[in-house]
Amino acid sequence: MKRILSAIALLLAASPAFGQAPATRPMIETTKVEGTDNVYIFRHGNHQSIFIVTSDGVIATDPVAYGRPQGGAAYVAEIRKVTGKPIKYLIYSHHHFDHIAGGQAFKDAGAKIVSHTKAKERLALIKDPATPLPDETFSKQRTIKLGGTALEMTYVGLNHSDSTLVFRLPKEKLLFVVDLLPVGAFPGRGMIDFYPLEAPASIKRILAMDWERLIPGHPGAGGRLGTKKDVQDQLELLQYASDTVQAAAREGKCWDGVEKETKLPKYEAWPGYENGLPFVLRRYCGLWGRGT
Ligand SMILES: [Zn+2]
Repeated sequence: MKRILSAIALLLAASPAFGQAPATRPMIETTKVEGTDNVYIFRHGNHQSIFIVTSDGVIATDPVAYGRPQGGAAYVAEIRKVTGKPIKYLIYSHHHFDHIAGGQAFKDAGAKIVSHTKAKERLALIKDPATPLPDETFSKQRTIKLGGTALEMTYVGLNHSDSTLVFRLPKEKLLFVVDLLPVGAFPGRGMIDFYPLEAPASIKRILAMDWERLIPGHPGAGGRLGTKKDVQDQLELLQYASDTVQAAAREGKCWDGVEKETKLPKYEAWPGYENGLPFVLRRYCGLWGRGT
């Protein structure tokens, strides 16, 4: 019996479900992206970001330290295990605190904080004590070239937020996109302030870019990176959810009827479905039952 139980425990540890930390996974982990010389994923709990080490310094993204006063310093310490080069930039992927709180340690290390213009406008109003304001902003596109590496950042429109940047490493054909494109998982909480009418155009712009692997802001199903197929799947999922709720809304079923009855059976086996479904239904009821 004991042997069977430990076999089950091993099996569970080996197959992490989306959003669930397996018992064996450390809280903080830094891994080099396979096939690259200098691109790293920093994961803290169930959030992750990337940093790029070059001969002239480091470009980091999202401190991912919401509710973790030492999280920013822990991230800087992880970078210091890889390189002693100066941290030149810290870039915010969008304005949500669960990804960008914790930047002070980077400022103290000498980094300039960069974000989309809208992120700075919002942060200036909210004054979150754990989230220093950006030093530099842009609204359409910017490419940072440092020590032989180019990092292209593009605003592709309203989608998961009004300040989301798409990060692309052209040489490595890598993409880093936070929250807009869950990899092999059903969307959830991120739908609260999602832009349902505009997001599909953003996703199509991302599909048209030249890249091969997608690093998400939360580990993908089984910890894997995403592909264009995952992005296509997400686009179809949103369309299906939208069409389903639209039909129900036009029968007067938003909000209560939809929230009680509507299911999206095509996706019920996807990680995150159970928890995410109410968020998805509610957001599309907001659109088709209210016009928002
Ligand atoms: Zn977000």
